[in-house]
Amino acid sequence: MALRLMDELQVSGRRVLLRLDLNVPLKDGKVLDDTRVREAAPTVRALLDRGAAVIACSHLGRAKGKPDPALSLAPVAGVLERYVGTPVRFVPDSVGELARRAAAELRPGELLLLENLRFHSGEEGNDPEFCAQLAALADVYVNDAFGTAHRAHASTAGVAALFPARAAGPLMAREIAALTKVRDTAERPFVAVVGGAKISGKLETLKALAHKADTLALVGGMANTFLLANGVTVGKSLVENDLLEVARSVAADASSRGVALLLPVDVVVAANPDGPPCTVATSDVGADQMILDIGPLTQEHIATVLAQARTAFWNGPAGMFEKPAFAKGTFAIARALAASRAFTVVGGGESVAAVQQAGVVDRLSHVSTGGGASLEFLAGVDLPGVAALME
Ligand code: ADP
Ligand code: MG
Repeated sequence: MALRLMDELQVSGRRVLLRLDLNVPLKDGKVLDDTRVREAAPTVRALLDRGAAVIACSHLGRAKGKPDPALSLAPVAGVLERYVGTPVRFVPDSVGELARRAAAELRPGELLLLENLRFHSGEEGNDPEFCAQLAALADVYVNDAFGTAHRAHASTAGVAALFPARAAGPLMAREIAALTKVRDTAERPFVAVVGGAKISGKLETLKALAHKADTLALVGGMANTFLLANGVTVGKSLVENDLLEVARSVAADASSRGVALLLPVDVVVAANPDGPPCTVATSDVGADQMILDIGPLTQEHIATVLAQARTAFWNGPAGMFEKPAFAKGTFAIARALAASRAFTVVGGGESVAAVQQAGVVDRLSHVSTGGGASLEFLAGVDLPGVAALME
């Protein structure tokens, strides 16, 4: 099974329905962070340059299947126009008469942007009628929105089956190539560092990494549950009491496969997230303290294994890094990854923000903006939006 690629499609003189990830943060009709638009622009440009008429579409936020002016893609049209360097005609609907007419009038080299797909319940419902209406707008389908590939929605899954000519865009292809390398052909030693708030939501990925990695370092809030499962006092730290048994079984699994499981040996604690930080051995956490970061010894352990790694994956901050007092561990991991000669992949919302803040993005092999999709992919889940583009 191989991924069909955009470059292999005949697009000249054809209408291309292009699913993008333009899910940007908006405030009062202004785009707060245009990273996703900037990254999507070269895909649009390439199609236009090849003589395609491009009908771009995306979701934005959590519109509940009906129009919500606060979640309109209209403010994104201007930003897209600037990055692509071509006028964007914005259509205030994604299907129906307006969309049909705009698509029919579109000439090669011209660009349309449809309104937020999630203004119709058919999008998240993967409704066949909604899929058919979307598909009727174009001749060719390209999906470049990896971040929603784990959802079987109309624009990511249902619509693909209605296009004999369909392919993955370059951003999607790059994500899949990097994550496949980590998942299936990781050069050893393979070191995975997993942190963030909780185990839940990442359990399947954690289990997969506990099988595949040579070293699995656990940090952040999720490590607390593993520490507590080992009988360590974690005081008032964030823990998932219902997952103690699960933590024990992941640890036992890793050990039975010879995977080294690294837990914090020292931590930064405070009485609360606004309290003064104090570094202690993990065995010395007080009953009224919270673990809010990993300590310097733990940072050093992780940096040492990362320095020897040939493949490294990181998801999840090592502490409450939004507060400078508890950000040192997270930034130390970011720097250690940047310094490593391994093939380095970072994925996840907050982890990506952390490597951006640390200024190391250019020194990493791949920064996956896929969030949930990247974690599911690594866990071995067949993503509907990717499966639809295989042949
Ligand atoms: P990602 O988005 O990279 O997958 P998560 O969403 O799982 O990461 O977790 C990020 C959040 O975890 C951050 O907001 C951070 O404050 C929180 N966090 C990390 N370590 C701790 C901790 N020890 N205690 C409480 N919260 C933590
Ligand atoms: Mg997150």
